[in-house]
Amino acid sequence: MKILEDRILAEGRALNEDILKVDSFINHQVDVELMKAIGKDFADHFKDKNITKVVTIESSGIAPALMTAEALGVPMVIMKKQPSKVLNDDLLQTVVTSFTKGTSYELTLSQKFLDENDHVLFIDDFLANGEAATGAIRLIRMVHATVAGIGILIEKSFMPGKEKLTSAGFDVYSLARIKKLDKGKIEFVEE
Ligand code: 5GP
Repeated sequence: MKILEDRILAEGRALNEDILKVDSFINHQVDVELMKAIGKDFADHFKDKNITKVVTIESSGIAPALMTAEALGVPMVIMKKQPSKVLNDDLLQTVVTSFTKGTSYELTLSQKFLDENDHVLFIDDFLANGEAATGAIRLIRMVHATVAGIGILIEKSFMPGKEKLTSAGFDVYSLARIKKLDKGKIEFVEE
């Protein structure tokens, strides 16, 4: 997606070979018009997949997931990050290791909001090792819902997440694909 790539080049900051900061338009301040365009792009791409819910992880997935849900005319469900296990019959949890923080959290979903009839589009801001996405998929499968697609804003193609998910048979659609990061340098995969 050209407008996202242009914005990453203009305002993104590669902190090192692994981490890209996009605080001025995705992760801290949010560009609403850009999120609308992203939502429309995801909705167009997945329009024939019979999506019934858009699912994301708090907090940076919420803005693009909301716009995608709006464009598809379906509800959005937010998976929460809890520091520890919560004993409650209604809540499903699975451990995820955070890429940026290096710590673990309990990804949490209430069983009330997804069931076996749902076709889920999972949206997240970044795909790196695929830990967050595979944790979300585990929860989606616990309620026997179907993962109909995965939409990612920024895929770090030099990390294993994309390959892991596609080789497991998932339809992964990324709007910007980064080949290489280095301090102050960002290179995209050529299409
Ligand atoms: P994964 O679970 O695929 O290893 O990492 C994805 C999660 O880590 C995303 O939900 C995102 O919040 C965070 N993340 C991974 N890489 C980056 C990065 O380069 N920059 C930012 N801001 N977040 C990242």
